[in-house]
Amino acid sequence: MRRPQAVFVDRDGTIGGSGHFVHPRDFTPYPRSLEALKTLRKWGITMFAFTNQHRICRGEATVQEFREEFRILGFDDAFICPHDPLDGCACHKPHPGLLWQAAQKHHLDLTQCVVIGDVGATDMLAAHAVGAAKVLVRTGWGESSLGLYRHTWEAVQPDMVAMDLLEAVHGIMESG
Ligand SMILES: [Mg+2]
Ligand SMILES: [Zn+2]
Repeated sequence: MRRPQAVFVDRDGTIGGSGHFVHPRDFTPYPRSLEALKTLRKWGITMFAFTNQHRICRGEATVQEFREEFRILGFDDAFICPHDPLDGCACHKPHPGLLWQAAQKHHLDLTQCVVIGDVGATDMLAAHAVGAAKVLVRTGWGESSLGLYRHTWEAVQPDMVAMDLLEAVHGIMESG
């Protein structure tokens, strides 16, 4: 894995939370996640949040509230799917629309980017669709993505499996 143009980081189950919907006012990053994000910034790696948040379309939170959360966490930009999964939008992971949006806006070669997430069937498949490097974390749904739900993304192999976001970041830097 070469030094990436950008690292995409999933939110729920990767940065913190429960793997389920958590309103930005209640979101708590895992203890080591803040150090992980600080490390990326220290290395000058562009970092983007990318997340499915369909509760937005039900009025339970706003895109702006999520944007503010990611800004405070130090992200350079955030790509958020607010749609209902049944809408058939192009941005609900595993669709790679959020990655395309980022690539267009920030002039990225997605094959030179890394995706970090906890769900094989969404994060890893979206990354695979655009040829990005795939790092699965064992937090959130990560452990079950590797076990009970492995069949939902069986055609794809992660490039790296990390204990958590901090280990993922260190792994990316060491292999770069
Ligand atoms: Mg997740
Ligand atoms: Zn969408």
